[in-house]
Amino acid sequence: RYAYVNGRYVDHREASVHIEDRGYQLADGVYEVVGVRDGKLIDEKLHIDRLGRSLGELRIDWPVARPTLGFIIRELMRRNRLRDGLVYMQVTRGVARRDHAFPTKPVKPALVLTTKNSKRAEPDPGPGIAVKSHPDIRWERCDIKTVALLPNVLAKQAARESGAYEAWLVDGKGNVTEGASTNAWIVTKGGELVTRATDNAILAGITRHTLKVLAGDLQLKLVERPFTLAEAKDAKEAFITSATSFVTPVVKIDGDTVGDGKVGPTARRLREEYVRFAADGEAV
Ligand code: PMP
Repeated sequence: RYAYVNGRYVDHREASVHIEDRGYQLADGVYEVVGVRDGKLIDEKLHIDRLGRSLGELRIDWPVARPTLGFIIRELMRRNRLRDGLVYMQVTRGVARRDHAFPTKPVKPALVLTTKNSKRAEPDPGPGIAVKSHPDIRWERCDIKTVALLPNVLAKQAARESGAYEAWLVDGKGNVTEGASTNAWIVTKGGELVTRATDNAILAGITRHTLKVLAGDLQLKLVERPFTLAEAKDAKEAFITSATSFVTPVVKIDGDTVGDGKVGPTARRLREEYVRFAADGEAV
């Protein structure tokens, strides 16, 4: 298996970056994860657009031109025979002697790509997952997809130690912001599909965006507003979205069952629609 590191395709086991890389020392970098199904990238353009936005917010230059990045992604997929899984890409500000401020002499941003194989995502969602709430102790720019993920790491670990798959982050007002690495949704007893509006408190998920379009096609009533943890526990259904989890139903929150504790029809239908979209491509 290969990784791409600053211009080279190298054996993944030997792939390394400099110890003074600002990503390593200061988490001064951004990343993207693009899902792959049946050899096809899911929403590639939107992911690369978001990478550009993250880079812009941190004033990091593109490491290579956009079309070149598209080529590198495909070449790595080809070399690794990636059919189902994900492409990870990371850009850090580059290598410079350690100082919090940007390097005064501009350095070349560092670009790293890896791939990961996984089981082909099925339309059937399986039994659903449990989530555990955790205080959202992150910063005020969660709209930037940076590699500074310690609060997310700690929340996810706490969830896993309690037997839950994902953490749901709760802000000071009691509202669920998002998951540690996913967006959060509920279906209320009144039949409304609810997810928090995007602002700097959450990452504008690409899966979230595409699912909004698909939900519109199904004429579901979508409301973008905050919801509390209590409202989620009292909801008819709940689910998470991300490039790697697609649409995954949540059947338990902090040990309390959601609805009847089984996967509900809305989450089931939305997952089917999303998997169909991933297989067909282009619906936005
Ligand atoms: N929120 C956070 C904090 C995430 O890390 C992710 C996954 N990268 C998401 C939401 C979901 O985003 P996407 O649908 O683009 O994978």
